[in-house]
Amino acid sequence: MAFRSSLLVLAALCLLVPSAQGQHRKKPAVRPAPPSGPVTLTPAVVEAGSPELLRIQAPATAHLEGGWLGHKLAFFRGNSAWYALAGVDVEAPLGPSTLKISYGQGEDRHDLSQTIPIRAAHYTTGSLTVSPKFVEPGPDEKALIEAASKAKEKAFAASDARTPNIPLWSGSFLAPVKAQATASFGTRRIFNGKLASIHKGTDFRAATGTPVLAGNSGVVLLAQPLYYEGNCVMIDHGQGLISYSMHLSRIDVKPGQQIVKGQLIGLSGATGRVTGPHLHWAIRWQGAMLDPVKLLKMNLPSKP
Ligand SMILES: [Zn+2]
Repeated sequence: MAFRSSLLVLAALCLLVPSAQGQHRKKPAVRPAPPSGPVTLTPAVVEAGSPELLRIQAPATAHLEGGWLGHKLAFFRGNSAWYALAGVDVEAPLGPSTLKISYGQGEDRHDLSQTIPIRAAHYTTGSLTVSPKFVEPGPDEKALIEAASKAKEKAFAASDARTPNIPLWSGSFLAPVKAQATASFGTRRIFNGKLASIHKGTDFRAATGTPVLAGNSGVVLLAQPLYYEGNCVMIDHGQGLISYSMHLSRIDVKPGQQIVKGQLIGLSGATGRVTGPHLHWAIRWQGAMLDPVKLLKMNLPSKP
């Protein structure tokens, strides 16, 4: 049973090109007015799978503390406000959540906490067919899957242990390839009629050999072949924010290497569990899988 659960977790991380059988997205519900006050969230309507930029008006000397959905918020000072980049996992429970933010001590304590509703994002459903070894792996494949899982856990642990935990990114993210992004994040998929999985990244329609660029600055956490992901590069952007590029035909970086935004990290391809060449690009914040297309649309502050 332990293997089955790890297989499902891995499957959920992996990717394929979107199915033509997906249903069209439903129209979103009526949007409420954005909240006003010392804390603002962008996007103002918080959906499962959404990255969120928190902007907090507090003195430059304040020591902010906060948490949301089981995550510890990491704040940094911008030009005229405090910020935290956070997000809501694609599988987060819907309904009210408590965003805790406070600063100061004793009678001078300022509590900026508020209730944030988490709304459904109406992701699509589809089915597709891959090599049977990716749905019902044999003993040799199980050993490779286990090795890949350990490599990823080691990379995430290295990210968690990073100190000081400051943003390594600065300003908005760039698209990792010059290719069309598909509306594939959050899609519920059935592989070969058997394995159900949620697609936790965005597929870009990139032909094999397309240059893949770093979406923002950071440090390479992992750069190696993995069973489902194929040739994979993970970049740690600081404060628990990690981007992954999968199915590469070539890797051009090494673990520990410092990367600047827009730097070439490899070439796209069709390695791992795929139905054809494409780039799968995923965004993870403290274990929460976020919609990369929403991150690309966000106007993020530069490091002061
Ligand atoms: Zn994918």
